[in-house]
Amino acid sequence: MLTTKPMDFFRTLPPKQCSDCGDPIEEQAESYLMECDRCLSKKED
Ligand SMILES: [Zn+2]
Repeated sequence: MLTTKPMDFFRTLPPKQCSDCGDPIEEQAESYLMECDRCLSKKED
């Protein structure tokens, strides 16, 4: 669900957020990741 208007989206790219807990995700090489390190490590367990 998009809550950001298209115009605003192009103006300011919002920081990526973890799809699980909502924490901001720092841009990394693994940019395809949708979850933060904490949630990812939880799943690997
Ligand atoms: Zn998370």
